[in-house]
Amino acid sequence: MRKLASIRTIIDVKPIEGADKIQAYQVDGWWVVDQKDAHQIGDKVIYFEIDSFLPIKPEFEFLRKSSYKKLQDGTEGFRLKTIRLRGQISQGLIQPLTFDAEEGEDVTEKLGVIKYEPPIPAQLAGKVKGNFPFFIPRTDEERIQNLKKYVANYHEEVVYITEKLDGSSFTCFYHQSKDDKEPEFGICSRNLQLTETEGNTLWQVARELDLENKLKKYCEDNNVSIALQGELVGPGIQGNPYKLSAPTIYFFTAFNISIQQRFGGIDFMDIIEELELKTVPILEYMTLPKENLINFMLDYAIGRSIINSDAEREGIVVRSLNEYNSFSFKAISNNFLLKHK
Ligand code: AMP
Ligand code: MN
Repeated sequence: MRKLASIRTIIDVKPIEGADKIQAYQVDGWWVVDQKDAHQIGDKVIYFEIDSFLPIKPEFEFLRKSSYKKLQDGTEGFRLKTIRLRGQISQGLIQPLTFDAEEGEDVTEKLGVIKYEPPIPAQLAGKVKGNFPFFIPRTDEERIQNLKKYVANYHEEVVYITEKLDGSSFTCFYHQSKDDKEPEFGICSRNLQLTETEGNTLWQVARELDLENKLKKYCEDNNVSIALQGELVGPGIQGNPYKLSAPTIYFFTAFNISIQQRFGGIDFMDIIEELELKTVPILEYMTLPKENLINFMLDYAIGRSIINSDAEREGIVVRSLNEYNSFSFKAISNNFLLKHK
């Protein structure tokens, strides 16, 4: 579960040109616009990240006009998204801390905040077989703005940068467990394992790509169990931003289930080539800059998609090439957030 609401500290304040009633406040790598003098540097505050879905409560009523939404299941609330006020990007919400809590504390549940998820089209939802397998990590990525305290450790690491595609998470796996059970081939969406049904796009594409046989052969030849994870994009998915004519999977990572470790970047690319599949667009290999990593990556994130240059790029995912010190994060393009979400 993502930390959507947490206790943070105001680390900087800056004026907004041409606006004398509002200011921009910084928590970690995020900037949020609020009334002038609403907070001071050093204040402990509650910070709600973008994608928070806030419950209906008097303290959030001021958001009704801009942010009220009703979810598919009838839940009402307020959705926080990226906005621009007088030219200043504002991401999330800051509220004064009115109870005892410690810096970093996760108050998502306590405050009744959930993650806003756009409705899932029927052909992607499929029929649930079970929870996401415990032996495979989910595909979630942390946003770079939340890593301010850690980025110092990343300096001068070698990474590869991939284009972040705006589709739907896809995981396939071939798993031979230690007991004598039959090996299992499975397909999962972001949070669930799916039963094979006709009309389910994830399974359809898996069959077209012959993933079961490819994974089976790889696993038997190498005596391992593996999972491949990628982004499914195409018609009916997130409005098909790249205007593809058929559903397509671009893979972004491979996981060795047997030893519970991600394959390093080079091994991952070798596997995808060997199995004649596609990776997400690889933009660059680089050594991370020593300074201003967050701003560097937020700037880098802005651009056109490699898959279709008419489309605004959603962002980038940065992953260490070194498999023994593996980390990754996403940087979403602020242009994309302002235009699309
Ligand atoms: P978000 O879409 O903001 O929830 O970010 C995490 C998701 O990005 C993952 O769950 C993946 O489904 C997706 N994704 C798209 N492109 C990539 C990529 N190049 N590398 C890693 N994840 C990606
Ligand atoms: Mn996504």
